[in-house]
Amino acid sequence: MEFSIRNIAAWLLSNLYIIFGKINHVKKSAKNGEIILSVYFHNPSKKLFEGCVKWFLKNGFTIISTEELNSIIKNNKQLPASSVIFTVDDGWKENKNNIVAVAETYKIPVTIFVTTSPVETGDAYWWSTIQKAFDKKITNRSVGALKLIPNEQRIQELERIKPFVSNNREALTIQELETISQSPYVTIGSHTVSHPILTMCSKEQSHVEILNSKRILEDWINKPIQFFAYPNGNYSERELNTLKSTGFQMAFTTKPEYVTLNSFKSPFEIPRFDVLENVSFAENIIRMTGVWFEQKERNKNQ
Ligand SMILES: [Zn+2]
Repeated sequence: MEFSIRNIAAWLLSNLYIIFGKINHVKKSAKNGEIILSVYFHNPSKKLFEGCVKWFLKNGFTIISTEELNSIIKNNKQLPASSVIFTVDDGWKENKNNIVAVAETYKIPVTIFVTTSPVETGDAYWWSTIQKAFDKKITNRSVGALKLIPNEQRIQELERIKPFVSNNREALTIQELETISQSPYVTIGSHTVSHPILTMCSKEQSHVEILNSKRILEDWINKPIQFFAYPNGNYSERELNTLKSTGFQMAFTTKPEYVTLNSFKSPFEIPRFDVLENVSFAENIIRMTGVWFEQKERNKNQ
């Protein structure tokens, strides 16, 4: 955990939630098959990821795969008791040791949503490049600001600053991706070609980003790509339609909610709770169980 006032305050608050049993009703609802927990990672340390796996197993949860969820939804089955789904975004090179190796040790399924361009070219993820340039004052436009402008302009700004910052590989290689995709515990899903904000793309760009990432991944790993995660969680009706018409089965958002029977109506909007890399483990327990977001909602409504 990064020591900051915010993180220490959140650590204290999270421990209070745990001491006062705020997660007990979540465990109960999961046990009764009213909800499935859905959590996602980006580039966690081995210690963090293994800690999360152990926490769920110790608390009587079964980690289910995206294929199992898809089958539950397609066949209108009951929600399985005490279940959680693990997904991972972007395709960071460290995932191989920190996630896949742990998944194999504990024999638990994970789905990794891969952005294909950084895998293919070896370029850093675009937000890393922008952040570096922003820190060096080469650009005054932050990552957050670039998420709010038309995609063409974001690409122009990225190309302008690229020569001024170091550019190291952050993503898995094609070879590594092929290797991990052969693990019985790993499912590979799509996370577009270049990780744009899809709602800031033209109709054509959005379509190409979705369709090409699927084709490229299928070509690399020789398996059908059925699942998708929206970069930054942004999507509109247009993306839902593209995904449905290009053969995807399910898509994951960043909406922090439980998977319930309601999710059966919208398999292209499966919610997820985020696990953060720089906060306390107590806060991540409160996040993974959705208590963090329930409490926020409650405060907002008061
Ligand atoms: Zn992402």
